[in-house]
Amino acid sequence: MISEEQYNDAVEQKDEAQEIINQYFVEKRKRFEDRMKINLSFNDDELVYSASSRCPCGHGLAYPKDCTPDHYWDCSAILKGIANKNVQHTAKLPFTFYDIKGESEERGTTRLEV
Ligand SMILES: [Zn+2]
Repeated sequence: MISEEQYNDAVEQKDEAQEIINQYFVEKRKRFEDRMKINLSFNDDELVYSASSRCPCGHGLAYPKDCTPDHYWDCSAILKGIANKNVQHTAKLPFTFYDIKGESEERGTTRLEV
């Protein structure tokens, strides 16, 4: 039999754990927002590429791995800081409005093979 006291202890531990989990995501979001403010140049290892969708400039769409769920797809050349400023690039495409397949969900990638 689990006593009322054991139950109450468990609930308390669960609340404490949830608080740590919440705090972890707050800090993670803050780190990512700071990163976006000071340095927009990501490398390939930090990006998730789309399986087949590309920016009008020819580079694959991508997003940073550490981003939050309310982030967006963008041109990988912009994210890497190598975009040609004289050509048209995609607008930011929020995850919520665009169903773009990532390279892990589907066969294929728009990642440039080196
Ligand atoms: Zn582009």
